Amino acid sequence: MNSYYRDYSDYLADTFGPGKIQKLTVNTRLGCPNRDGTIGRGGCIYCNNTAFSPEMGVGDDIVDQLEASRCFFGRKYSDMRYLAYFQSYTNTYGDMDRLMSMYRRALEVDDVIGLIIGTRPDCMPDELLKELAILNGGAKRVIIEYGAESSHDETLARINRCHTWAVTEDAVMRTSDVGIDVGLHFILGLPGETEPMILKTIERINTLPVSTVKFHQLQVVKGTRLARMYESGGLQGCGMMELTVEKYLDLCATIIGRLRKDIAIERFVSQSPADLLIYPRWGLKNYQFTHRLLGILASRR
Ligand code: SF4
Repeated sequence: MNSYYRDYSDYLADTFGPGKIQKLTVNTRLGCPNRDGTIGRGGCIYCNNTAFSPEMGVGDDIVDQLEASRCFFGRKYSDMRYLAYFQSYTNTYGDMDRLMSMYRRALEVDDVIGLIIGTRPDCMPDELLKELAILNGGAKRVIIEYGAESSHDETLARINRCHTWAVTEDAVMRTSDVGIDVGLHFILGLPGETEPMILKTIERINTLPVSTVKFHQLQVVKGTRLARMYESGGLQGCGMMELTVEKYLDLCATIIGRLRKDIAIERFVSQSPADLLIYPRWGLKNYQFTHRLLGILASRR
């Protein structure tokens, strides 16, 4: 908790009541319609899914994955409660009965109090939302996290997202209309984006019924199209702004000053595995970044 912005732990406490809550990542291997040709081919230019798929929890059965992780965390805190986090790839992509059975099974695991489902905004049909709203109606909660990445259609085209900002806005409205909390994910420093463009995105977020946001710096990761662009033309070849940690801290502090105060910020940075990360290599842990950011916010008061 801090006095500068609503942080994610505040959101969790307000939503689920006091007590320790841990996210447990599950790997569904559902794939992505922007890779298999259904919506697009080749995926987003920065995407190497192994960079954000934690090793823990990898296995075939959802319940086995959750039980293994629960066992690990439960040893430390017996009163811990859990959220099953469907993080990698597009977790609403597939046969609806199969998806719903997967979500229901996750919610049946002891001490799992809710689901966080990460997906693309163009992969949320109304029928699925209706079913998710029913799951959300009982003692357990469902939260949907959409990868928005930018509010600028020219950026979305440049990074091969294969959806527009209007699609994100529509998904957010439809999800909020059925009573499900919405989180949005954004990448800062995308090719062609300037600080005023990023701040325009913050203005646009403020108009939407969003509960949480996540930001992270654009990372050039091995095995991606962005990495090939970087290797052949450097930052200029990617159309990227230079991302020094000082510049990025300053940007995050400005964002905090502009974002609606009821929207909780879950994080500002992400760390791809060191052996995959090409740029920027800050070598900072999340908590170290946040500590420096809070120092800047204090100095601006
Ligand atoms: S970032 Fe997400 S939407 Fe883009 S290609 Fe990767 S899995 Fe698909």
